[in-house]
Order: sequence, then C-alpha cells, then structure tokens
Amino acid sequence: MTEPGKSPPLSVAPSPAARPGEVPFVELQSFDTLWFQVAGTVCNLACTHCFVSSSPTNHTHEAMTLAQIVPYLDEAAELGVKEFYFTGGEPFLNPEMEAILAKTLEYGPASVLTNGLMLDPARCGRLAALAAGVEYSLDFRVSMDGYDAESNDPIRGEGTFERILEGISNLVVAGINPVITVTEVHDDNGTVRGKERFFELLRELGVERPRLKILPVFKIGAEAERSAAYESWQVLRDVDAPDGDWGHLQCSSCRMVTDQGVWVCPILVNEPSGKMGERLKDTLNAFPLAHPACWTCHVYGVSCKT
Ligand code: SF4
Repeated sequence: MTEPGKSPPLSVAPSPAARPGEVPFVELQSFDTLWFQVAGTVCNLACTHCFVSSSPTNHTHEAMTLAQIVPYLDEAAELGVKEFYFTGGEPFLNPEMEAILAKTLEYGPASVLTNGLMLDPARCGRLAALAAGVEYSLDFRVSMDGYDAESNDPIRGEGTFERILEGISNLVVAGINPVITVTEVHDDNGTVRGKERFFELLRELGVERPRLKILPVFKIGAEAERSAAYESWQVLRDVDAPDGDWGHLQCSSCRMVTDQGVWVCPILVNEPSGKMGERLKDTLNAFPLAHPACWTCHVYGVSCKT
C-alpha cells in the first residue's frame, strides 16, 4: 500500500511510444556529468512552473543520505565522470547537504541548484570556506523568475523575490558569485532588455560580473497545468537529426541519481519511463527520445548544466 502523500514506487518501464525505427535513440557518448536528486522532490516552495512539481508535500522521491551517495561517487569515478550537480526540490533541505558537498569535492567539481531561501550568512560563510579549501570548484545556481517582485512572486510565491535577493547577497558577501537561473516563463526574461534588467539587479547587489543562465520551460509537471501541455506533434523523429547524431542533447553525457535508482536525465525524473537502472553501470545503453520534453531539449538546445 502507498503511504499518504507518497506516490507509488517508480519502476523500470519501457516508454510505450518507444518503437525502434520510429523513435530515435540517444547514445551515452561520454559520461561526463552525474546529477543527484539530493532533496528528492521535496521543496520549501511550490513554484507554478516546476517541471518536477516539487513542493513541501511531494514525496515521489525522498532526500538522499551521504551513505547512499558515496557508492555512486565511487562508481562515477570508475566510469570517468567529470562533474557533479545537485538539485531537488531544495538541496539545502537535506540536513547532510554540506557534508555531501565536502565529500563530492574529493571526486570532482560540484554545482548546487538552489532557490536561495536557505542561504543565510552562516551557511554562506561555511560554503565559502569549503570552496576555498579544496582543489575542485564549487559553484552555485540560484533560481528566480523575474527581475522584480511583480514578475517573480506569482511564479515562486509571495515574498520570495526579496528572500532570494537576500540569499544572493549573502553569497556575494561571502565571496561567492552565483549563476542566476531564469526560465522564459515571461516573454521578456530572455530578451536583451530582460537580461540587462537582471544584470542591473545583480550589480546593485555588488556582483561585479553577473552570471545569468536562461532556460526554456518544460511543459510537464506543474507547468503543464499553469500554461499548457505538449501537443501531439511535439515529439522527435529520426529525421530531426539526419546524421543520427544526438550528441547535442545532455542525455548523451549525463545521468541522474535519485533515492530510487538512476534516471536518464534531470528532466524526466518523474517519468517512470525515464528510469534506466539501479546502478550507473546499468544505464550506459541508448535511451529512446520518446518523451515530448525531448522536443524542447532539441529545439531549444537545452542543457541543465551551467
Ligand atoms: S528530456 Fe532532454 S535530456 Fe532528457 S532524455 Fe529527453 S532529450 Fe534527453
């Protein structure tokens, strides 16, 4: 029986649309990047565009412990993985997050995708000290969806704009220059004018060299309810890559680990068909690009990497 507030366990299931010869397959060309759904799908926000539908009550995936993560780091090292990313949900809801980062930095560079709300001065000071004491780089991405409260808060929640700025400011004071991640949830977020508004905002916070990453929205999860789901024509076919090379897709070089096994990428983590196995070595085979979200990756050239 499934516990209240928890979705049924996800299992390996071939995509029903995956028919060789019709749906293209992407090879894992080089295993460069390993993601961890380190906070599961639990978040202290419930953003209306979240393609994972993370929220305080979404327990589809639970937080991962350091003890669960270390074997994957060891396996990743054997497979030549070059860098590590942590996301959720909100990673800093994981009580072991700082210990997990410290351990990961023994293996390679690490990046954390956070909503910024748990970046108090003390934590930022510890993170800066950690980054200063290791050989590999430690990077942070802070998400916001508008350059003012009027555009950000309807997506991320009332009062979040000011709290995000506070978190960014705390990082900057500690000597960390985060990448600000913005989705194209508003038409002008990704325009030249929109980018300049974000740059101005960051300069006002003392950031000398603002860093900005713009991402399209994926019409799955909460976003499918906020705006619209994919239409039937928005799927990939062999003819979309006439040379058969899908190396521009991030799934040609990454995998995602959750508390329930290994998924193909950070985007399909709620899709049962996205699960490829239990250990990394189970997931080195090709993957069918059958999900409509794959269309967004191809058309927009998306990479969740910084
Ligand atoms: S959603 Fe994007 S990254 Fe994930 S399998 Fe499809 S193309 Fe690859």
